[in-house]
Amino acid sequence: EMFGQLTTGLETAWNKLRGVDVLSKENIAEPMRDIRRALLEADVSLPVVRRFVQSVSDQAVGAGVIRGVRPDQQLVKIVHDELVKLMGGEVSELVFAKSGPTVILLAGLQGVGKTTVCAKLAFYLKKLVKIEDALVFLSLCCTKKLHILLELIKKKKNGFQGKSCMLVAADVYRPAAIDQLKILGEKIDVPVYAEGVDVKPAEIAKHGLEEAKEKSINVVIVDTAGRLQIDKSMMDELKEVKQALNPTEVLLVVDAMTGQEAAGGKLKTRITLVTTFNIEIGITGAILTKLDGDSRGGAALSVKEVSGKPIKLVGRGERMEDLEPFYPDRMAGRVLGMGDVLSFVEKAQEVMRQEDAEELQKKIMSAKFDFNDFLKQTRAVAQMGSVSRVIGMIPGMGKVTPAQIREAEKNLNIMEAMINVMTPEEREQPELLAESAARRKRIATESGKTEQQVSQLVAQLFQMRVRMKNLLGVMQGGSIPALSN
Ligand code: GDP
Repeated sequence: EMFGQLTTGLETAWNKLRGVDVLSKENIAEPMRDIRRALLEADVSLPVVRRFVQSVSDQAVGAGVIRGVRPDQQLVKIVHDELVKLMGGEVSELVFAKSGPTVILLAGLQGVGKTTVCAKLAFYLKKLVKIEDALVFLSLCCTKKLHILLELIKKKKNGFQGKSCMLVAADVYRPAAIDQLKILGEKIDVPVYAEGVDVKPAEIAKHGLEEAKEKSINVVIVDTAGRLQIDKSMMDELKEVKQALNPTEVLLVVDAMTGQEAAGGKLKTRITLVTTFNIEIGITGAILTKLDGDSRGGAALSVKEVSGKPIKLVGRGERMEDLEPFYPDRMAGRVLGMGDVLSFVEKAQEVMRQEDAEELQKKIMSAKFDFNDFLKQTRAVAQMGSVSRVIGMIPGMGKVTPAQIREAEKNLNIMEAMINVMTPEEREQPELLAESAARRKRIATESGKTEQQVSQLVAQLFQMRVRMKNLLGVMQGGSIPALSN
């Protein structure tokens, strides 16, 4: 687990507050030292840590008593919110050009994963997403507040999916990089524009953009040359390329692993790196790679603070699928050992009225979620148009093909047909169907489906009960009740 050490360090801090009645300057002194140490050990830079600790202390001392919330939980909540703020607060979406192709220029040192990111990004912009979990999520959040959900979806409309992409190989110093890009492009079925190594990068970039315009490509992603260290010729070249392209996004690719061995020297390098690129080239954001590795997470926590520019995406592995948006709240949740579910929780709370949520949650916890609820949820999904669109708003749902999406939409229709011919009792008590082959057979006949399909549907409802209950369990059982206030 990437933040394991940091999480353990912070736990030490909470534990010291067990049994105190109210947070005070005196009783938080020692926990704050633990927090400070934990952050420093996670490679967060000293000035960042100082500001962080100061801000948390100020808030904690003034926090007073909140009924039903223990002081240690209060402090966790304050630290959580401060971590989110530190990482930029909101998700920073990629920006797309209003007209013509969106140009994304990638910069970064050699070996950070830049070429891989080019292809991953194209794959990400093309891809569509996963259904089954989405239904569970939607079941939790779309009961009544459809308009809010629609609002969210509208916001996402110009979002990531379904863009046509082109990769441009402007790294002319490593012929291998051009070949690598071509191979990756082929793998994900995205065209690669290259002119070999004898043309100036700015020229290649310009020609690539022209070709993209001709072909009405939505997004052009430009791979540039890195060096082992920052040097003037690299910066000059990047400036030239930038000038030639007028890119929509200039993203600095940063390796999360850098700076983890010797906190002192290397860490300084990483911070210098981010600030130097930002000052020299002007970046719009960063992509943090290799977050799957044995990283201590400091980079995730520092980039925004030291550059003023957000991390927009993170890489978590070598496969094409391993690129996702950067969610500050999820990252904070992860730092605190809360897992990714936290942002799910908060989104669900945003889109649901308290009473609706409570009723649904009661049903789920007592395993009363029935076919009526099921139908309501699936209809809600259908009402919102394409399932794929809806699913796109759910954090971290990747890795599904358009064919699978079509399959899922078809499945929804089949399910609805079967539920429509159930009696009211059968809808409310799925057990009746689980127990009686005769009932299943009747439903199959009346809906024109097979008995196997009916059995599958029944099984799915029971699975859904378990999954939803688990999801809810995490939501409610988390150790930070203050978050759900
Ligand atoms: P470039 O020199 O910046 O273009 O770096 P490359 O794209 O060639 O990547 C360098 C190495 O890092 C390759 O072996 C990649 O497979 C690997 N790599 C890139 N991104 C990730 C990541 O997110 N996680 C892991 N584990 N490896 C990565």
